[in-house]
Amino acid sequence: MYKSATDISKILGDFKLKDRMFRYSSFVPRLYNYCISKGFEAGKIMPSRAFCSDESQGYPIILICKHFGTFPFNHGRVGGVVATDRHGPHAEHGKDMVIIQASHVGYDPDTKEFGVYRRLCTEHGENSSSCGKVDGVLSWYQGEYNFARNNILVERRDNQYLIMIDNQLLNMQREEGIFLKLDKLIESDNEHFISEESHSTSKYFKASKEICSLFPDLNARTVIGDKLLPEFFFYKRQISRDVESHGHLENNLFDVMPWLVSSSAPLLDAAKANTQIEFDRTFRTIVKNKSYKGKKIIYISGLNIDISPQENQIFPLTKFVPWAAFFMNEDGTQEIIEQAELYSLLQNQSDSNPDKIDMEEAIEVMEKAKEVKLF
Ligand SMILES: [Zn+2]
Repeated sequence: MYKSATDISKILGDFKLKDRMFRYSSFVPRLYNYCISKGFEAGKIMPSRAFCSDESQGYPIILICKHFGTFPFNHGRVGGVVATDRHGPHAEHGKDMVIIQASHVGYDPDTKEFGVYRRLCTEHGENSSSCGKVDGVLSWYQGEYNFARNNILVERRDNQYLIMIDNQLLNMQREEGIFLKLDKLIESDNEHFISEESHSTSKYFKASKEICSLFPDLNARTVIGDKLLPEFFFYKRQISRDVESHGHLENNLFDVMPWLVSSSAPLLDAAKANTQIEFDRTFRTIVKNKSYKGKKIIYISGLNIDISPQENQIFPLTKFVPWAAFFMNEDGTQEIIEQAELYSLLQNQSDSNPDKIDMEEAIEVMEKAKEVKLF
């Protein structure tokens, strides 16, 4: 999907959050009304969600149920990956089809931090990472990055800049790990990077012009730290090719990993990247799937931002940031709707939905219904 470093940072930056958010309680009725405006038949729509298994995703699911009048089909794998092998059963369960895919990220309104979520049911209501699955995938890469940040030093001697690199980071024969793009760090006329000095566990080289420009006021010696930019390194790792959860999520994020580990909000950027990649992948599987032929279908992808609940709240104050949507009509005509257009299209829909159901009443009806005896 990605071709170059600038390509990657641009694509991540193209997913805008500012002025693109809906409260979930406003997003779902607007989406429902958009479906009706496209000719979907009330009472014959089977919604589906591809969300992470995290309990924080329950509130959006309840709202989908309330506004579409039926519990949504489950298209989701942990981390917000779409189970594309479930298109067939989904298509059989309704006349008109909706799929909502979202990766998620927690948010703490007190500290304004992304990537954490308050777990009110834990003993002390403490915060934990969110999405925890994405955090688990990122942790090995962050460990490698932190080692490199702390074991590459930049030193100025008179007017000469030197860069000292740990020997392990110079070993290009490793099968896994973080690998440096040495031509960006070291000044050299050719691909043989000749060291100025060898030490017991590291080597000194003349620093590249790019490195010099990042440390204009350097007087002595310092770790490279945050100046180890994503353009300066890449990873090698054996990743399972399975489409089930971990391997799939890790494969999705692999190319953007240098940008994620060096981001100020890694779990937010990872959720955005996963949403972008899942939309691009899944819409093709919908187009090709025979089960959806002759049906109306709307597939929408976005980001669920789970604002941690306060003490007196049962649910998070989730916000939805749409990324893109795909619409296919019975006759096979299709359209892809990009973020800005999708946002204004939803914004132009009413957030009032006369077809929404009263969940309490629906449950009461079932409680009072005559019992069906099986034996
Ligand atoms: Zn999750």
